[in-house]
Amino acid sequence: MLEELPLAIDPLRLAHQHRLVQGKFALAAMQRIHESLCATDGEVFFEWLFSLDEAQRPMIRGWIKTTLPMICQRCLQPMQWHIDNTVSLMILSNEAEEETLPDEVDALTLHTATVTMRELVENELILAIPLVPKHEVCPVNEYALSDNSEEKYHPFAALKSFKK
Ligand SMILES: [Zn+2]
Repeated sequence: MLEELPLAIDPLRLAHQHRLVQGKFALAAMQRIHESLCATDGEVFFEWLFSLDEAQRPMIRGWIKTTLPMICQRCLQPMQWHIDNTVSLMILSNEAEEETLPDEVDALTLHTATVTMRELVENELILAIPLVPKHEVCPVNEYALSDNSEEKYHPFAALKSFKK
């Protein structure tokens, strides 16, 4: 079931109604993550099922997926950081309940009855953003080459420039 996304939602009510909420938000609209990004084009996709667990506790289960334009902190080149995270939240009405949470579940503690879906997705994204993003293997660039030992020196590249 594809839901229209209302501006404000009541997570508890959605859980009792067993509702699937899916959609996407523009990264450009998520200002709290902008300082971590080197560009704000792109979208966050999500699909969250609001429901009750076996013990009738209100839960959210689903996923978020996105690709974030970030700067690699090793080579300082732009990179794409892929996020594909599962979301498992128990909806709580006060912090005291957080102590009863199962290990694999995070708390969504509501301070007001309504929140926006974008706010919730943005919260999950903030938790998923790496503090120090790095390429798994940084692309080799000319500057790195000239600093390195002769092992990485490519004689044919030099030959080519001689011929010009
Ligand atoms: Zn890098």
